[in-house]
Amino acid sequence: MKDKVIFDVIGKETKRESSVIELIASENYVSSEVLVAQGSILTNKYAEGYPRKRYYGGCEFVDEIENIAIERAKSLFGVQFVNVQPHSGSSANLSVYLSLLKIGDKILGMDLSSGGHLTHGSNVNFSGQLFKFFSYGVDRNTGYINYDDVQKIASKVRPKMIVCGSSAYSRLIDFERFRSIADSVGAILMADISHISGLVVAGEHPSPIEFAHVVTTTTHKTLRGPRGAIIMTNDHNIFEKIQKGVFPLTQGGPLMHIIAAKAVAFYEASFPQFKIYQKNIVINAKALASALIARGFEVLTNGTDNHMFVVNLLKKGISGKAFQDLLDSCFIAVSRSAIPNDPKPPYISSGMRIGTPAITSRNMSEREMEQIADFISSIYLYRHDNTKLDSIRKEVLTFISKFPIPKSYV
Ligand SMILES: *Cc1c(COP(=O)(O)O)cnc(C)c1O
Repeated sequence: MKDKVIFDVIGKETKRESSVIELIASENYVSSEVLVAQGSILTNKYAEGYPRKRYYGGCEFVDEIENIAIERAKSLFGVQFVNVQPHSGSSANLSVYLSLLKIGDKILGMDLSSGGHLTHGSNVNFSGQLFKFFSYGVDRNTGYINYDDVQKIASKVRPKMIVCGSSAYSRLIDFERFRSIADSVGAILMADISHISGLVVAGEHPSPIEFAHVVTTTTHKTLRGPRGAIIMTNDHNIFEKIQKGVFPLTQGGPLMHIIAAKAVAFYEASFPQFKIYQKNIVINAKALASALIARGFEVLTNGTDNHMFVVNLLKKGISGKAFQDLLDSCFIAVSRSAIPNDPKPPYISSGMRIGTPAITSRNMSEREMEQIADFISSIYLYRHDNTKLDSIRKEVLTFISKFPIPKSYV
């Protein structure tokens, strides 16, 4: 008998996804081929270990799949060694820390409220609990990373590892500078490019591959693949440690269906269309940031170089959570975000993060960014006028219905 209950809810989620303007910077829409691969019978297979070195029989075909995924990732990122097994960005970072460091070692990472990720040292996360984290933030005046400050903190702390990369930083990251800071104190440099890896593949953001000792990325954000992650390096010794650090140290059997879906996503990312897509993500993010600034919103760093930016709501008299809920009620999805030195706790926060990867997948362009900025500013303006909000809701639904979610990209 079919499980009507859960499939009914999936049906509702399908409808929700198609009828909201998706501005959550870490979300995207995968192709139907990615979906088919991750929904395949490969989920039945146990394959602990690595290709040709498995602890189970019958692995000849999953070996082939994992090798293809590895080869595709290598050519996409121009890197020598890749582990495609991490179940998520967080577990990839856990594997790297535990394979290259000792528990209690010092790590320097970006502060959460400046755009760093939970796994970059938050004390509610394993990272902050297992390691001694120190943090760098952004310049109080410009909102940019101040590399001289990072150098000063690094020289004082002398960490074993420096982590760069973020979840909410809208400017280019100077990986070369980070490497020279790391070298000056003898630290390992890890670049976590979870958010920007699609841009990196397309040449829209400089690549960390030649500068960082090790690079992690999720596969489900700008890269537009299944939920999961990969770890990359050009250093053979580091790679040997990482292999053991993923399995058996932090994971058991790999998700072969997800690895197949990663391979499909890498295939899709190898086409020229993917480069154009990433270019358009950045064009749209810049256009949406300027359009919101023109309508009186304050954007951190006054714009963006990548796929996202953070709106500072402090002077708007509305919290990140309240604005997120308000926009949600009008079919616009954003994620609230802390801002540097946020006076509010993270659950409430004073900013909202806006990203364009998903709406660019739906083929929106600069003209639509003006329209979306109009929606957001009218919703703010009429936040106490439910009749007005109702008419905006209708307009949003009509607008989004013109941009169906594509089933394929190549
Ligand atoms: C999203 C993200 C992660 C974690 O990914 P999960 O798959 O959610 O665990 C790690 N680092 C950065 C910088 C991220 O943005």
